[in-house]
Amino acid sequence: MIDLRSDTVTKPTSEMLKAIMTAEVGDDVYKEDPTVNALEEKLAKMFGKDEALFFPTGSMANQAAIKLHTQPAEQLICDKWAHVFNYEGGGVSFNSGVSCKLIDGNRGIITAKQVEENINPPDFYHSPLTTLVCLENTTNKGGGACYDLEEINEIRKVCNRHGLSLHLDGARLFNALLAKNEDPKDYGKLFDTISVCLSKGLGAPMGSVLIGDRKLMKNALRVRKVLGGGMRQIGFMAAAGIYALDNHVERLFEDHKRAKEIGETLQQQAYVKEVEPVETNIVIFYLDNVSDESKFLKALESKNIIISNMGQGKLRIVTHLDYSEEMHQKFLETLNKVSL
Ligand SMILES: *Cc1c(COP(=O)(O)O)cnc(C)c1O
Repeated sequence: MIDLRSDTVTKPTSEMLKAIMTAEVGDDVYKEDPTVNALEEKLAKMFGKDEALFFPTGSMANQAAIKLHTQPAEQLICDKWAHVFNYEGGGVSFNSGVSCKLIDGNRGIITAKQVEENINPPDFYHSPLTTLVCLENTTNKGGGACYDLEEINEIRKVCNRHGLSLHLDGARLFNALLAKNEDPKDYGKLFDTISVCLSKGLGAPMGSVLIGDRKLMKNALRVRKVLGGGMRQIGFMAAAGIYALDNHVERLFEDHKRAKEIGETLQQQAYVKEVEPVETNIVIFYLDNVSDESKFLKALESKNIIISNMGQGKLRIVTHLDYSEEMHQKFLETLNKVSL
């Protein structure tokens, strides 16, 4: 099976399993799990922040961050395609009682100008008070697009001028850092909080980490508990995360290279209308004729290949750790042979 639906489908390698099996653990609710503590310190240091906290999922890490930055009835600003708005089950309103001002960005990316234009005037008490901006890098629904650090810098300035907090949903931040050759510490400087996923391109079975400064993170432990995210001997999974950070970051280049080659191959096919620019490990494309979608997906399935249908004619391919060179060659060959 060649599963290109998402980079979340990977299974731990035997080396990662060994790291899991030999992890030293303790009760993390008492903060006595040495491996969790080591993972948290490693990421806090990497981003030049005081503290980090391990979460079971990226959604919970984002939701906790939003809770830390807001009060009920306030409003956050994000792109219309943001994961925090579209794919976290309405948690923004459920967990924090906050509304979202959606911005019509470009492939999930918003500008400092757009942010500034969408801040509600704080003395106009009829509208919700804007208190938080959430960015996503790379963008998921936006097809793995990356921010320019300079634009984030401008957004930070807008946030400073208006007293807003700035959170980064960095589920695939390591893909962006690699693609743009950037330093995690630059991100640490610009954002109040950053969530990163260990279970996407890095290939761990679970886990995300929220990173921030001490004052803010003091409450993160409490919020995680409220959300039901306190875990016990979870060092086994933190060990997978540490292993992934040590061994699976540089190799994201391979995923990016293969995604680019898939994009180029698709571009040459008569049945493809458009391929969005491939910046990292996600390829978004549209068939020439939307009504051919199920025929196309079935043709792939008959070769044991599965990809994602995101609706509205949008098809998505995500490369990852378990997508080998052999699978890649077979997939490119199949794309060249499909006739609709
Ligand atoms: C995957 C993902 C998350 C977190 O998802 P979980 O399934 O809750 O771990 C958050 N943001 C983005 C952009 C993602 O792609």
